[in-house]
Amino acid sequence: MPGTRKDVTGDAGLGMGERICRRDFLNAAALATGGAFLSPLELLAARDDWTGYGGVGDYRFSNGNTKDVMEAAHSVRDRKFQSLPRDVVDTGEVFDLVVVGGGLTGLAAAVLFERQGPAGRTCLVLDDHAMFGGEAKGNEFLVDGQRLMAHQGSAFFPVPHAGGFVAQFYDTIGVDRHRFEYQKWASDTREIPLSQTTYDMLGRQGPTYAFYFGARFGQRPGLWLIDPWGKKLEGAPISDETRVELLRMHDGPDRMPEKEWRPAFEGDPVSRRLDTITLEEHLIEKHGLRRDTIRTFLSPVTGGGYGLGPDVLSGYCAYAPETQHPKDGDEEAGGQMFPGGNAGFARHIVKTLIPDSIEGPRTLDGVCRGRVSLRALDRPRQRTRIRLRSTVVWVAHDGEPEKSRLVTVAYTRAGRLHRLKARAVVLAGGSWTTKHIVRDLPAEHREAYAGFYRSPCLMANVAVRNWRFLYDMGISGGRWFEGLGNYMEVRKLATFGPQSPTISPDSPVILTLKVLYSYPGEPIEAQGTRGRMEMLSASYRDYERRIREQLTEMFARSGFDARRDIAGIILNRWGHAYVNPQPGFFFGTGGRPAPREVLRRAPFGRMAFANTDLVGAMDQRNCFLEAQRAVKQIVFIEQGGASGAPP
Ligand SMILES: Cc1cc2nc3c(=O)[nH]c(=O)nc-3n(C[C@H](O)[C@H](O)[C@H](O)COP(=O)(O)OP(=O)(O)OC[C@H]3O[C@@H](n4cnc5c(N)ncnc54)[C@H](O)[C@@H]3O)c2cc1C
Repeated sequence: MPGTRKDVTGDAGLGMGERICRRDFLNAAALATGGAFLSPLELLAARDDWTGYGGVGDYRFSNGNTKDVMEAAHSVRDRKFQSLPRDVVDTGEVFDLVVVGGGLTGLAAAVLFERQGPAGRTCLVLDDHAMFGGEAKGNEFLVDGQRLMAHQGSAFFPVPHAGGFVAQFYDTIGVDRHRFEYQKWASDTREIPLSQTTYDMLGRQGPTYAFYFGARFGQRPGLWLIDPWGKKLEGAPISDETRVELLRMHDGPDRMPEKEWRPAFEGDPVSRRLDTITLEEHLIEKHGLRRDTIRTFLSPVTGGGYGLGPDVLSGYCAYAPETQHPKDGDEEAGGQMFPGGNAGFARHIVKTLIPDSIEGPRTLDGVCRGRVSLRALDRPRQRTRIRLRSTVVWVAHDGEPEKSRLVTVAYTRAGRLHRLKARAVVLAGGSWTTKHIVRDLPAEHREAYAGFYRSPCLMANVAVRNWRFLYDMGISGGRWFEGLGNYMEVRKLATFGPQSPTISPDSPVILTLKVLYSYPGEPIEAQGTRGRMEMLSASYRDYERRIREQLTEMFARSGFDARRDIAGIILNRWGHAYVNPQPGFFFGTGGRPAPREVLRRAPFGRMAFANTDLVGAMDQRNCFLEAQRAVKQIVFIEQGGASGAPP
């Protein structure tokens, strides 16, 4: 067993002096085939001590909200562009459609626009990051010669039901398989089940899963309880009362009949009632949990798909994704995941729009292995163009919205403000930015956007040279209730990426820590703001140290050595990662329409609003559905329809 506690907690023992990541970065930058695109400023930005190391490959300058992206966005928040200055650069361009935001929603809008309505129309996608994809981007590491990929945000998808819109959309963009093959076990040692996605074992919490109890529970050193549910939580340092409550939640019986808590469809009386109470109140009525138990063990919500905890979320959040997509999923196949997460969809869309944007064929293998050609994204005379590193700061109709023929769109790029025109605009950037940049937004829409709260998330991808320290404990993942993040698990990767087709405890893997910031008991907006301050105020080095310390504390006794085993850390900071639907978000309160309905039911002049947050469940399927709805609205306007919802 390497080192004692005392040996491993100093800077040297934790490996803080091992500038492995930085060295990799320099090598990668020097070797990059796209090196011609790297200005000294870009190199500097990629190395600032806030953004930190960005890995190798296509996403090396685009890990989450990098410092330059954040600063450009904050110039809008800080009202730097209340009017357009005289020296704005007029590009002279007029596009049939401008899409603000190159995430899955915006990219899907571009491809659906191309396929609906008359041919030959032009589209420009503007995105503020150095790579397209929004929250659906990947990270790539080179560990001892092996390429490894992970997601920056959006991770997995369920197998869509055959013939449905989502399955058809996947086909349109060339995702020709909806069930993937994954790495096979390569070792002659005993095989233990591994996740295909980043959430499988968290969902199952079976015999090869464990709970960690540390200082918060009076445990120094901490205690791992392996197979917690199989052991009925015996040995957990919690009170008998808490144990009984948690077991009742896990094993039942529920305190309400199923017909009272499971919605049959979105908008039925059950879903509407759930939307009048908090998720915390629902957990209390359904499982008889105490508030304190919920806030200790279930906040943020397990899996974290809503960013905050049950104290402020609508009760309907617990059921929204499955109720919205009741036919999806395949129990036997499980959740599916591209090696870089849902970045796979973004890449397929872009490859479909601009065939030479990613080298190689339009197959799963080709699109995931090929390199992005930044030059191909934004060339004159191509039907759809994607302009990156462009932060939209101003969008307004020329004249009265209902009569106007054009919209002015202004964006900053490389420190200069540019202006162009659009016949229609899809605003796909998300509530947190759209409400600031649309200058002629009506009061009703403004009020609706005021009902959208979003909270931050830090996705830390930690590349380790092997995961023996987990395997030797008999686990492949675990959950904890204090410190950074609250769960992680080893994933076997889909085999069409660049990684090895096999996996063993000695394989390098990427462990993902999802760090959410919830402060139960505080108002919803205050939690988001406080979390952003906390996330944004720490440097890369601060987080690197905390990650090394935490993994050391949890795993040094099973052989983990941060200095030896960590090959690289990438931080992906998302300042406005998740929408946090409060009670009333889904179906409105006091007879008023739900905020999302105001924004979705009709376009405003020549603008349509889209983004997964408008549905209240952040999910790639909702991106594609929202894009489809917004494009239908735009096509309706194009065809001379009066502003309003298409029939
Ligand atoms: C940590 C995390 C994990 C997730 N995991 C999953 C998962 O496993 N499965 C799943 O289905 N979903 C998951 N999601 C949900 C995810 O939000 C969606 O799947 C999807 O990626 C959202 O796409 P979008 O286009 O709606 O929004 P975004 O991805 O947010 O795209 C919007 C884009 O617009 C840009 N933008 C905003 N304002 C401007 C502006 N003014 N100018 C220029 N550009 C602008 C943004 O920077 C961004 O690039 C996850 C989300 C997070 C945060």
